Amino acid sequence: MPQLMVDVGHTKYPLHIEQDGIYKVGNYVKKQFPTSCAVIITDSNVQALYAKQVEDSLDNSSIKHHTIVLSPGEPTKSFEVLIDVYNKLIALGIQKTDVIIALGGGVIGDLAGFAASSYLRGVNFIQIPTTLLAQIDSAIGGKVAVNLDTGKNLVGAFYHPKFVIIDTQVLKTLSDDDFAGGMAEVIKTGAIYDVALLNTIESHAGRSHIMKVIDDVVHRCCAIKAEVVKQDELDNGLRMILNFGHTLAHAIEKLPDNTFTHGQAVAIGMVQFAKLGEQMNITSIGTSNTLQKIVQSFGLPYEIVADKDKLIDIMKRDKKIRDGKLNLILLRKLGEACVNPIPISQIGELL
Ligand code: NAD
Ligand code: ZN
Repeated sequence: MPQLMVDVGHTKYPLHIEQDGIYKVGNYVKKQFPTSCAVIITDSNVQALYAKQVEDSLDNSSIKHHTIVLSPGEPTKSFEVLIDVYNKLIALGIQKTDVIIALGGGVIGDLAGFAASSYLRGVNFIQIPTTLLAQIDSAIGGKVAVNLDTGKNLVGAFYHPKFVIIDTQVLKTLSDDDFAGGMAEVIKTGAIYDVALLNTIESHAGRSHIMKVIDDVVHRCCAIKAEVVKQDELDNGLRMILNFGHTLAHAIEKLPDNTFTHGQAVAIGMVQFAKLGEQMNITSIGTSNTLQKIVQSFGLPYEIVADKDKLIDIMKRDKKIRDGKLNLILLRKLGEACVNPIPISQIGELL
């Protein structure tokens, strides 16, 4: 498979997609930062499974290293934890020439990336994403952030890693929920950009089947994310299409009694907005049916069970509303997305 690069003009970096890549971290670090000290930031689940492989690899390349272990889960993406991380970096004597390695899912990547962007006004940063979502989405494109009590990702930066190591073997230990959640974003990528990818997903329904072609699938998703980010790093245009299914998903996730994971909510959002696009004569008929079958084949839901008025109310307060308009991401057909700005007054007719 060809080497993928993320190229956003002011910086350019490789995505190393290879099985057993976590055993080669030391080689890559030694090549680019021969005299640096490395700090692995991870969570306790990932530490138990994969920290030793990365630490041994750094030892084999004679790279000095430390490990900071955080609690797993979304609450770790907070200012409290961030300050704790800064203090640990200072206590370890980490300098500007050293390197932070994010080893984990999107929570660790976002938190460690934001720490790297701000500690000493920016230190070197590497991503080793270990969830499917992180490998195809959050580790690529430079968005790093922490949450506030008032909302997710409200404080952050664009800060790109020096390289990303993607080892698909680590996906074997993911829970079924986290695997399916990642698949929702894989399906989204096919739906907005690449019908051939969607066909591959359709013909490898279920976790064990898709794992047979996972390197190709991850490679294709990463190539698409890299291409979209290249064209619109700062999320003012094309990058918005990555939000397909997410306007409704974010509303579902904000319901006080919500039990859906992010990936499940995205699956519902994609199928429902495909239906909506069909009703608006924007999406070709049959698209929602196909999407529904694909999400179902990975154990993901597709129906809204919540009170639609509540969802509409939440969507009217979407943080991405600009100049009184919500940018609705719809499909023209499978593999092709479009941005449709609609006035807030029409949001009530969406569901
Ligand atoms: P996560 O980081 O919480 O990981 C999910 C769970 O899987 C955790 O319990 C973790 O310990 C465990 N885990 C990780 N790798 C594992 C492995 N290989 N085997 C077994 N268990 C493993 O969640 P996530 O879904 O990876 O990321 C969600 C976060 O990503 C959210 O905070 C979201 O805002 C963010 N995100 C960021 C971007 C971006 O562009 N920066 C894009 C999408 C999502
Ligand atoms: Zn998402």
